[in-house]
Amino acid sequence: SGGESAMRSKPNILVTGTPGTGKTSTSEALAEATHLRHINIGDLVKDKKLHDGWDDQLQCYIINEDLVCDELEDIMEEGGNIVDYHGCDFFPERWFDRVVVLQTENSILYDRLSKRGYTGAKLTNNIECEIFQELLEEAKESYREEIVVAMKSDTVDDMNRNVTVITEWVSSWGSAT
Ligand code: ADP
Ligand code: MN
Repeated sequence: SGGESAMRSKPNILVTGTPGTGKTSTSEALAEATHLRHINIGDLVKDKKLHDGWDDQLQCYIINEDLVCDELEDIMEEGGNIVDYHGCDFFPERWFDRVVVLQTENSILYDRLSKRGYTGAKLTNNIECEIFQELLEEAKESYREEIVVAMKSDTVDDMNRNVTVITEWVSSWGSAT
């Protein structure tokens, strides 16, 4: 509810989107600009072993969502976090004050993921995920529409603009209402 989020002195922001849309780059720049804490869920899962092993087919850890949520509960309650993950439907809704969905044009995303070494099904699945705006849909289904914002992330200019816009929003946190 709104009452709970109002008790945080600093906001929690979720940065989500298809792999390659720029979540980690954007979150790092945003953390530097705002002094909020960047939490890369993929790294956290790996470092703290919050997974149920390795998925050979998808070439990624099988995330244990309950372990991740338990691990983060206290820190999220405290506020001041930027959470970076390519999924958003398993976090408690009350954790976030803003949900940013990054979006990238297909051909640009294709190049970024190819450069990252993605091929075959892993590459096409992610491109399809972006074409069908799956993360935007997931975000809208999981959070109040007024806190969900889609942002274009095709160019470095886009990223800088996004960081500026979100930083301004963070600065006004708590004084607006
Ligand atoms: P994600 O965390 O969503 O998988 P990354 O932040 O790791 O994405 O970005 C993937 C690659 O694309 C990196 O090489 C990064 O430098 C580049 N990149 C990300 N966002 C942008 C952008 N808005 N403009 C240009 N390059 C970008
Ligand atoms: Mn990332």
